[in-house]
Amino acid sequence: MAQRYLIVGTGAAAIAAAEAIRSYDPSGDLLLVGEEPHGYYSRPGLAYYLTGELPERLLFPFTEHDFDRLRVRRLHARVAALQPQTHEVVLDDDRRLPYDRLLLATGSLAAGPSLPGVELEGVVKLDDLDDARRILQRCRRGRTAVVVGGGITALEIVEGLRARNVRTHYLLRGERYWGNVLDETESRIVEHRLQEEGIQLHYHTELAEILGRRGRVAGVLTQDGRRIDCELVAIAIGVRPRTELAESAGLATERGIQVDEYLHTSVRGVFAAGDVAQVFDPFSGKAVLDTLWGVAVAQGRIAGQNMAGQATPYHKSVPFNVTRLAGLTTTIIGTVGRGRDADLVGIARGDSETWRRLPDALVAQNAFDVNRLRILAGQHSLLGALVMGDQTLSLPLYRLVAHQADITPIREHLLQPSAHLGDLIAGFWADWRERHAAS
Ligand SMILES: Cc1cc2nc3c(=O)[nH]c(=O)nc-3n(C[C@H](O)[C@H](O)[C@H](O)COP(=O)(O)OP(=O)(O)OC[C@H]3O[C@@H](n4cnc5c(N)ncnc54)[C@H](O)[C@@H]3O)c2cc1C
Repeated sequence: MAQRYLIVGTGAAAIAAAEAIRSYDPSGDLLLVGEEPHGYYSRPGLAYYLTGELPERLLFPFTEHDFDRLRVRRLHARVAALQPQTHEVVLDDDRRLPYDRLLLATGSLAAGPSLPGVELEGVVKLDDLDDARRILQRCRRGRTAVVVGGGITALEIVEGLRARNVRTHYLLRGERYWGNVLDETESRIVEHRLQEEGIQLHYHTELAEILGRRGRVAGVLTQDGRRIDCELVAIAIGVRPRTELAESAGLATERGIQVDEYLHTSVRGVFAAGDVAQVFDPFSGKAVLDTLWGVAVAQGRIAGQNMAGQATPYHKSVPFNVTRLAGLTTTIIGTVGRGRDADLVGIARGDSETWRRLPDALVAQNAFDVNRLRILAGQHSLLGALVMGDQTLSLPLYRLVAHQADITPIREHLLQPSAHLGDLIAGFWADWRERHAAS
């Protein structure tokens, strides 16, 4: 009998899993159930949609033809419960769907603070396309917004509002931007660029209350007693993996759904992948969350292979994210180690917990105006790097970190205060690549 594969979610992990299943099992019954009305689209792309650089239609990587090719059925519905004993999921209209293999690819949602006024019209977040549309509907010239949060999403909202000519106040809980991932120089580069764009930064500032008039946002009150009048409040203080289905069905969960190296949960026949999965990290020896698009795709693929009977362990790769911070392309690779920050409820979007490890490593850095390179050098290999501005070295650095290339020949030079990091890395990369091509 044909296997019945059921996938909850229609995001990056879900689609990668469906593709993997289909490539190993041409005849299995493949059903995707998701509550997202717009189906599969690029969430990282929402930042560029907000600024107006990307039209909505380009957010969608799949056409109907692609879904037909996969021979996948799609159902727009919310899964209300999982019943592992009977191998069924229950929809919120009480319909029951049977499965032989189930994937939970339910992603994560923005964490909301418990503050007076969060229910007011004009308080927004950025999880999905409808949120982005809501933000855009509220962007009118002459309007004022307050944005709260320390990571990439908060900054993306700030930049989107700026591009739409909304006067923007950006509230930072600490003394600098994204202090748990960036070092001080990097934070200051970003902040300086924001200020040049007219963004008003407020350090050491937290919300006490959102003020309203006739059900709508009218301003905010900060904990130090200041009032800022505004019509829009955007909150991006972290995300929470959507573990509720797994939890109520008795699957092992911690901050995410716990999985083994085959991305199998504690219950037979049930797998998890993407933002919702908490996966073992051999580098730290802990189970961590990675809320990254590329990671969701990689995990979805491996989960799909395992669901189709191709036993394949997932090897957590070096986290890699290319993003844009205040207009500066920035690549974050491996461990960049600034430590934890209470600013985040859990973990921010486009973020990896691996970045926050404080490794036993030395830091070397070079900064020239907006081109900045920071590397973390372990005893024999590079543990991580952050590249801001010129991106020539980001892929070479990714490969060197991922392959744990032996940097002994250049390590001492890298750590000299006057070292030309870029030249040293470029030269080392050219040699390393040649040796690898030959072997
Ligand atoms: C604004 C923004 C910017 C980002 N920027 C970056 C970036 O620069 N770089 C990067 O690497 N990553 C970025 N990310 C993160 C990246 O998009 C996520 O890591 C990735 O989308 C996770 O994919 P997923 O499949 O695990 O979950 P999702 O894409 O969240 O999909 C989960 C799906 O499950 C559905 N679902 C959940 N529960 C149920 C239920 N009970 N019943 C039915 N359906 C359900 C949801 O509706 C959702 O559609 C960003 C995300 C956002 C929102």
